[in-house]
Amino acid sequence: MQTPGHAVLNLALLSGGASSALVLPIVAGAVAPDVPIVVLYLREKYLRGLPDERIWSESYQRPFWLNLIHGAHSIPLTLLGALVFWALGLPALAAFFASALLHALGDLPVHAQDAHRHFLPFSHYRFISPLSYWDVRHHARIVALVEALLVIGAAGVLGSGASAVGRTVLAAVAAWYLVNYWKNFLR
Ligand SMILES: [Zn+2]
Repeated sequence: MQTPGHAVLNLALLSGGASSALVLPIVAGAVAPDVPIVVLYLREKYLRGLPDERIWSESYQRPFWLNLIHGAHSIPLTLLGALVFWALGLPALAAFFASALLHALGDLPVHAQDAHRHFLPFSHYRFISPLSYWDVRHHARIVALVEALLVIGAAGVLGSGASAVGRTVLAAVAAWYLVNYWKNFLR
């Protein structure tokens, strides 16, 4: 899934309305698993000047980055974090890890060849899904459309209870999804 979509869907599923005090930790937890990917991309593109193709086929495949990215998408580790902080009575940290866990569960069915090792550190198993949110060889046109509609729908629901700033951000994410879909699949 696209990173902004995780933030919107996780908020809709976990916050019980965008006015909740847990909005920030939920958004942070929804985005956190993809932060290493963003850092890798910006570093390779703007510090080293590599073209996108080489970033994904070479830099992304290095063990250091794969371990970091896959570790951040670990179902057992994020579940453990959510349970430990919930038991300790720290709802913001529990919400952060619950949101990261939901991110991993959202990615699981829509990554094909680029599947993460979601069961680290216990197993290196990768579920190669028949579906992909970006790869047209794996029905990405339909998968990305379903993702876009879910995110736009969730943004609409959240927007009805949100502040003006919140509504603006949600509208921006919805617009970004529409533009991206057009750029990636229709143009
Ligand atoms: Zn991810």
